[in-house]
Amino acid sequence: MTDPTTATSAPEKHGFQAEVRELLQLMIHSLYSHREIFLRELISNASDANDKLRFLALAQPELMAGESDLAVWVDHDADAGTVSIRDNGIGMTREEAIAHLGTIAKSGTGEFFKRLTGDQQKDSQLIGQFGVGFYSAFIVAEEVEVFTRKAGEPASAGVRWASKADGEFTVSPAELPERGTRVVLHLKGDAKEFSDGWRLRSLVRRYSDHIAFPVLMRKEGEATLDWEAANQAQALWIRPRTELTDDDYKGFYRHVTHDFADPLAWSHNKVEGKREYTSLLYIPARAPFDLYQRDAARGLKLYVRRVFIMDDAEQFLPNYLRFVRGVLDSSDLPLNVSRELLQKDADVEAMRAALAKRVLDLLARLAKEEPEKYASFWKEFGPVLKEGTGEDPSNRDKILPLLRFASTQDGSDEPKVALADYVARMKDGQDRIYYLISDSVTAARSSPYLETLRAKGVEVLLLADRVDEWMMGHLREFEGKRFKDAARGDLELGGLADEADKAAAESALKDAEPLLKRLKDALGERVSAVKVSTRLADSPACLVLDEGDVGAQMRRILAAAGQPVPESQPALEVNAQHPLLRRLEATPDGEGFTDLALLVFDQAQLAESGSVANPGEFVRRLNRLLGQVMQ
Ligand code: ADP
Ligand code: MG
Repeated sequence: MTDPTTATSAPEKHGFQAEVRELLQLMIHSLYSHREIFLRELISNASDANDKLRFLALAQPELMAGESDLAVWVDHDADAGTVSIRDNGIGMTREEAIAHLGTIAKSGTGEFFKRLTGDQQKDSQLIGQFGVGFYSAFIVAEEVEVFTRKAGEPASAGVRWASKADGEFTVSPAELPERGTRVVLHLKGDAKEFSDGWRLRSLVRRYSDHIAFPVLMRKEGEATLDWEAANQAQALWIRPRTELTDDDYKGFYRHVTHDFADPLAWSHNKVEGKREYTSLLYIPARAPFDLYQRDAARGLKLYVRRVFIMDDAEQFLPNYLRFVRGVLDSSDLPLNVSRELLQKDADVEAMRAALAKRVLDLLARLAKEEPEKYASFWKEFGPVLKEGTGEDPSNRDKILPLLRFASTQDGSDEPKVALADYVARMKDGQDRIYYLISDSVTAARSSPYLETLRAKGVEVLLLADRVDEWMMGHLREFEGKRFKDAARGDLELGGLADEADKAAAESALKDAEPLLKRLKDALGERVSAVKVSTRLADSPACLVLDEGDVGAQMRRILAAAGQPVPESQPALEVNAQHPLLRRLEATPDGEGFTDLALLVFDQAQLAESGSVANPGEFVRRLNRLLGQVMQ
């Protein structure tokens, strides 16, 4: 390979940022499988650089001077053991080269190292996702040279960057006749396979078919100066659906997301009429590490009439669909559209509403046609989709059928029950959808709140996600059936309670009246009232909040966030038939009665929230009673 550059002064040494040094160690010593990803990453950078130039040239056409056809060139020299990847895009200044190729600017780099598993395949996938692609050159190269010249700068403003990944890199001025960037890899002894034309060509086809620029390679055969495109070089989303295979869509997904796992589903649509745009939306198979981080990058790749405008345009999807990836190509937006403009634009809002519907329809189709895939979607993204019940009331009717729950009627802890399943199984006389919010599904199953419902064979949905109490605060009913928290207020058994139940409840109430009063006196302000329970069968007592009170889950979330936790005063419901209550009835007022009453209260509190207000006192009281029993 002839080198068109002439170094014009001595190289200047720079040290890599510590994280980069660590990353390079990984590239050099731990990644042996999937080494070919370096090519995908470098071509992707070349394509990004072309995109950036094309975008800037909209306002400053002179930046394109010289060569206006943007492309990527991949060349090799088997004798010298080199591969080079060149673009005629934006290029870098000396300062940019030092900053971009010596540090990792992105947040989340620490997370990257944490997530490394030692599994070669998984780790090599992480490289692309975390935007540390350039350094993957060192997987196959013992030395990397980068020749770069910023668009709009003269040949004398060229820069040569070089490193052997030994902790430092050098930078020196270079005379470069061409705009853009050329990365030259001096292959390691065991990576010479990558200087083979056929091998390179097949990798380009496999990984870079969807780059919207031609990836040019020399025609095979005798040394020739003719170049030909080795890829499709066409924006995939503008091709008609009928022409595209599943593999095309999967390949394009990899290209957009750098995620190696196949997407679960996608939806490709061209909208014509008042607004014209094409969207290609994907549901990934796995949640990204930063799904719950507020400042994480999310959103679609935005194009305007095929010109790349920006990554992570989050304005086109509501927050609860932030897991969706893909591209949006608008024919109407101005080319100089900015994030600020997008925020205020009425057209953008209309597109967001339409795209949200599209995603929800896609999910509904997946749930119906491929329930197993939908179950795996729900596992990854269910709690995020739940946010939509409060965030997007206009689509609540589409979101509700997509929810999945664990339930008393389903043995597994995986949320599998849809509301429609529940409604179909409702008992005669039942007109409420019962649910219970708890720390875990396992804890919910043995909760005292469910005793009566269980005895009557009534199904109860078991909720344990952090968003659940918040979500249920937004939901009233499904198909005309009201939701009912099994741990709050009256159970509203309606037609489920038979005459015998009612008679028993009435007589229990009359008999228990004096005991209820004594208990209330003993417990004082701890409870708002003491009542006879309709929900208990085996347990002596439980605490019941009012419909509007803040529940245990929300109290914990507020406390963890350092927010004030509103006081709530539950009612104590007792099971008057329980031996413990019988015993209380027979105990005269005094210290013994108070101890026993408080113990009943404490265990009700334990069952409700998993803790008691004063564990020390609880234990002392318990031991006092145990001491008496054992005498
Ligand atoms: P990412 O592409 O996700 O930003 P990389 O590690 O692949 O991360 O690249 C780091 C940075 O180096 C890029 O963001 C870009 O600023 C710069 N860079 C890399 N390759 C090129 C290129 N061919 N032309 C211009 N800049 C480049
Ligand atoms: Mg990159």
